[in-house]
Amino acid sequence: MSSTTSFAGSLFMVVAPSGAGKSTLVNALLAQEPTIKLSISTTTRAPRSGETHGKEYYFTTADDFVKRADAGEFLEWAEVHGNYYGTSRIMVEEQMKTGTDILLEIDWQGARQVKKQFPQAAGIFILPPSIDALEERLKKRATDAPHVITRRLLAAGGEIAHAPEFEYAIINEEFAVALSELTAIVRAARCRFAQQAARNASLFAQLGIHAE
Ligand code: 5GP
Repeated sequence: MSSTTSFAGSLFMVVAPSGAGKSTLVNALLAQEPTIKLSISTTTRAPRSGETHGKEYYFTTADDFVKRADAGEFLEWAEVHGNYYGTSRIMVEEQMKTGTDILLEIDWQGARQVKKQFPQAAGIFILPPSIDALEERLKKRATDAPHVITRRLLAAGGEIAHAPEFEYAIINEEFAVALSELTAIVRAARCRFAQQAARNASLFAQLGIHAE
């Protein structure tokens, strides 16, 4: 079993029901903290207009996805809203070894699988300020058909039920506040002893600090 203690990079998982404003928050965080790398997932969902293969997702067929899942290519994978989504194991592990911080935008099922393998991964749950706000945001998103919106609203309740499994909760009422909270979590995680020791091995040796 892997452990983040051997990696210099930190692993962040940001989870939210659709419509909680997760992507906007994550994009603002990445613009502010350019050393964090967003993991690009593989999915069997059809691309939305404006989405490009290799940018938002790697799009593939269900057959190909299942083959790769069986071969152990995914660090985690799950069926979400009727499609498969998975995170590349190699990408995450290689990047973290080199000290890169990785952020995963995944669902609660995936977060649970990652946590088993990387107990120090920071789990952050983004909550909407109210159910009405969530519905409003989903309706404004013109990219999805009405039946897709209904399915996502129903799923939101299921996703929120898993919020207590996460260490951090951010209520996305005021964007600037939510972003500063997300930034604070990321910065605190980087200062964890194990991450500092892995990133600054020669300094720690010079100071005579030895890992327990
Ligand atoms: P969307 O289709 O709106 O881009 O994403 C739908 C849901 O799938 C979101 O909750 C998103 O976080 C989740 N998701 C995206 N990529 C992954 C992944 O690699 N693994 C898992 N488990 N969920 C993912």
